[in-house]
Amino acid sequence: MGHDTERVSVLGLGAMGGAIARAWLAAGYETTVWNRTAGRAEPLVAEGAKAAATAAEAVAASGLVVVCLLDDASVGEALADADLAGKDLVNITTGTPGDARDRARWASGRGARYLDGGIMAVPPMIGVPGSGAYVFYSGSPDLFADRQDALGVPSAARYVGADAGSAALHDVALLSAMTGMFAGMAHAFALTRGAASPKQFAPLLVEWLTAMAGAAHGTAAHLESGDYTLGVTSNLAMMVQGNRTLLRTAEEQGVSSELLTPFMALMERRLADGHGDEDTTGVVDLLLP
Ligand code: NDP
Repeated sequence: MGHDTERVSVLGLGAMGGAIARAWLAAGYETTVWNRTAGRAEPLVAEGAKAAATAAEAVAASGLVVVCLLDDASVGEALADADLAGKDLVNITTGTPGDARDRARWASGRGARYLDGGIMAVPPMIGVPGSGAYVFYSGSPDLFADRQDALGVPSAARYVGADAGSAALHDVALLSAMTGMFAGMAHAFALTRGAASPKQFAPLLVEWLTAMAGAAHGTAAHLESGDYTLGVTSNLAMMVQGNRTLLRTAEEQGVSSELLTPFMALMERRLADGHGDEDTTGVVDLLLP
């Protein structure tokens, strides 16, 4: 493909799309940009980007077309009139796995190769080597192989399979785990409010959560082997007993326990089913149909 491998079009210049386009520009790629509100392209044009007047024009400008819009509906809207035949369409707009699979079929019906992406970063991490930023990619393995160098410019790129929905699934699984962590942090700050300085408490919280995060490897070993008692150091019977102390403390401190009780209820159900010698892996099964 020669020269075309150094050329990219970026559609969507919000906080994330703008950072990504800027990373390609800085790396010397011939970068064409488009944004619904045209004024948002101006700073990038000042840095050397070419502005396309329409989304279709931006698509026509490069073989590699990267779309970073608000949601899946905006992608369909923006690309409605674009000729995607022969294009490599990389959609890094956040969506569900189902959205990604539908969008992959839609793109393939229009003659494009398709890759879906889930961005594991915030905009200031983009284009910064060593920031830890990466994007999960899934979909066309050939597209990923052919465009790997370009895709590795704004951040690292991790390919997670030919099923177009896989990147979104990995992305959302990590965000869901983060949601649980944020819930736990909110409860901990509420408990200590007025008693400990938040600034002094925060490093303790980070240290403890970092130490405990490794428990995921134990859960993985249980799920892979089918033996949920493997290497258990803190058993469920003990933990359910311990939960009562957590709840009584919340009550003493006048803090709502509503963020804790849904998970605790599942632990109790697993214990009641006779699994006191496991840890919390069995909760995974209770969530499945
Ligand atoms: P912004 O809100 O900053 O930008 C949204 C972009 O979508 C703008 O370019 C906006 O255009 C465009 N847009 C919205 N609706 C339409 C439409 N109907 N047709 C055409 N364009 C439209 O969002 P971000 O850049 O932060 O996020 C973009 C994607 O990146 C999202 O899917 C987000 O989930 C994902 N992401 C963002 C992260 C972050 O921390 N920011 C982290 C990880 C993923 P206009 O300027 O005209 O409004």
